[in-house]
Amino acid sequence: MKRINANVTMLELDMEFMGKDRVIHPLLLAEKGYTMLIDAGLPGQYEQLSQELHAAGISPEMLDAVLLTHQDLDHIGCLPELDTVNRYATFYAHEGDAPYIRGERPLLKENVVPWQSELTQLPSGRIDRYLTHGQQFNIAGGIEVIHTPGHTAGHVCLLLPQERAVIAGDIVFYIDDELVLPPVELTEDVPAAMQSLEQLLHYDFDTLICYHGGVCYDAKARLRRLLAQSSVERRLEKGS
Ligand SMILES: [Zn+2]
Repeated sequence: MKRINANVTMLELDMEFMGKDRVIHPLLLAEKGYTMLIDAGLPGQYEQLSQELHAAGISPEMLDAVLLTHQDLDHIGCLPELDTVNRYATFYAHEGDAPYIRGERPLLKENVVPWQSELTQLPSGRIDRYLTHGQQFNIAGGIEVIHTPGHTAGHVCLLLPQERAVIAGDIVFYIDDELVLPPVELTEDVPAAMQSLEQLLHYDFDTLICYHGGVCYDAKARLRRLLAQSSVERRLEKGS
């Protein structure tokens, strides 16, 4: 784990992605003893997640809240264990993704993630409250929910004004020191995802904390360049 500041800790879990060993980053937010976990790793990673939380000074049983940025397998993997060991915490997700996370509907990308079909049981768990756009939490100096549909309908990012940072979820990846768009085949609605990225530029931030890849500085300028470049590419594709 890496501490970003006194109230924000980036956890580190292993994940193979596109043939390479990578790291994914759930986050632990804290304020005056209140703690919130953002995203929950891959199925089978509960031990590793628990160790990372302990290294950050907390046990899974003590979390006050668990917030899921969206329904994908690598974000809700340890939800069943968290749900079981901690009946006290409040579990949050956007209404657009909650039915999938609860197991009421099959996860959207069931046939896309290569090994998802090999799991005998997909992770699911309770969602106690829905996240809404603009909602604020008194944690880590105050955070704000930004609804960013596209990757999935209920995807959210989180603004950390005190840190001038955005917790990106999977709206964008930071791979080998480059901001990149998530693969199209993992994006439910590409035009909506692009619109959400444009919308993000209206917020005040310099840093993106990416689940896939970690902390990206000078992120707004880099995001602007990425969007300009991808809109040129899309125009060229349309013209060809
Ligand atoms: Zn992901």
